[in-house]
Amino acid sequence: MTDRTIAAKLSSWRRVASPEVASYLAMQQQLSESQWYSPADLAGREAAALQSLTYHAGQEVPYYAEQFKKLDIADVRKFNVDLWESLPVLSRAALRDLGPLLHARHYPGSFGNSGFSTSGGSTGVPVRVKKTDFDGFFWNVMGQREALWHFDRLDGVVANLRGIGSELYTTLYSDPRTKRVSKGIVIEGWGAPLRLLWQTGPMGLMQPGADHQALVEFLTTLNPHHILIRPSGLRLLLHYIKAQNIRLPRLATVWTISETVTDDLRELCQSVLGAELISNYSAAEIGIIALQCPSHGGYHVMSETVKVEILDAENRPCGKGEIGRVVVTSLTNRAMPLIRYAIGDEAEVGGPCPCGRGLMRLERIVGRTENYLVRPDKSRMRFDISHYRIAALEFVLEFQVVQTDYDRLTLKVVPALTIGPNEIDILKNLINRNFGKWFTTDVVVVEALPRTASGKLLPFVSELPDQRSVKP
Ligand SMILES: [Zn+2]
Repeated sequence: MTDRTIAAKLSSWRRVASPEVASYLAMQQQLSESQWYSPADLAGREAAALQSLTYHAGQEVPYYAEQFKKLDIADVRKFNVDLWESLPVLSRAALRDLGPLLHARHYPGSFGNSGFSTSGGSTGVPVRVKKTDFDGFFWNVMGQREALWHFDRLDGVVANLRGIGSELYTTLYSDPRTKRVSKGIVIEGWGAPLRLLWQTGPMGLMQPGADHQALVEFLTTLNPHHILIRPSGLRLLLHYIKAQNIRLPRLATVWTISETVTDDLRELCQSVLGAELISNYSAAEIGIIALQCPSHGGYHVMSETVKVEILDAENRPCGKGEIGRVVVTSLTNRAMPLIRYAIGDEAEVGGPCPCGRGLMRLERIVGRTENYLVRPDKSRMRFDISHYRIAALEFVLEFQVVQTDYDRLTLKVVPALTIGPNEIDILKNLINRNFGKWFTTDVVVVEALPRTASGKLLPFVSELPDQRSVKP
């Protein structure tokens, strides 16, 4: 999307109806400039933000007061970013165990009320993070930035197939303004945060779990410009749409959340629906961490509100093209400062972006750090088979790899077409090419694959006793 289009959208805001709307508009104006700051300029501003954050943490947070004492930084005002790398990395398990020791005794009243977010039931280490209204404000702000970067029709029709809370759905269902379409509903507007700034089009909602025929009936009736859906749900839907030769003529973009998006899914979406797939990188603990670049591949970090480091096993920064742990620091959370928090994902470091934005660039989000195979000698190796493009094979609908023993893997496959001995050999050879030295692989054809409580399809599951609960 060109800068001119973004500027046009930014200027098309509806009206300043409240001080809240005015602050969102001011923020977008600010971000429209800061995205073009040079990396050095952004780093200077980040250093000032870190100075203020660490000062607050050292004064008000028991855990950090203790850490700074250990590091012999008695006067935290003397803390500077040169000392940054001496600060410990906080694992998910440490965050969970430290709990209230990470809460600030006081924080400035201007940050608003605080509440808790929980996340990570599927990762083995659920965490609970205290955040304030200020963090919620920036979640909305970055959601609006995403709309500026990617939505080419804010007045268009959205089909939301991600699902919403069942209570909210019931309330909307019985609202007299709600229209019932097929087996779903249509409401006015896309909801916050976009409705604060723009007069958006209608939004169709259908809860996950509906069969594909019902989904497709809903979509063809709605004829949406945009679809919101989970990646694993999208893959299944694309296969159905392809087999039935269904057209959605107005569709421009498909938006996904929560699961890792692979290149083959982007390509499938483009070829079956002629629509671009847009994904962002967000987490309940932090907010929106990175957005897909509007004109090139990869993700731009929201450097105005979060510092991202990609670190290797020895906590050294990774270089371009290297994959490491994502370690984040929230620049906005004063209720429970998260400093150098290893969120549990891995990402590949990208180079400078041809779009010219100075915001740090990640080439791709690789997946969860606990996606490790354990070899027979108990050494670990990363489970990253995205380059095999298994899901791109015509006869594969979806798959999951399970490590059942130190020398055994099971590849579970839901077939798109009949799977015979030839197809099983193709799959075995793919896995053996990288892992055959250590593991024997069984291929099992299944009718469906389980989802986590939050609806995610995990590409890898370990059944080894020492891998079930994730170590820091
Ligand atoms: Zn870019």
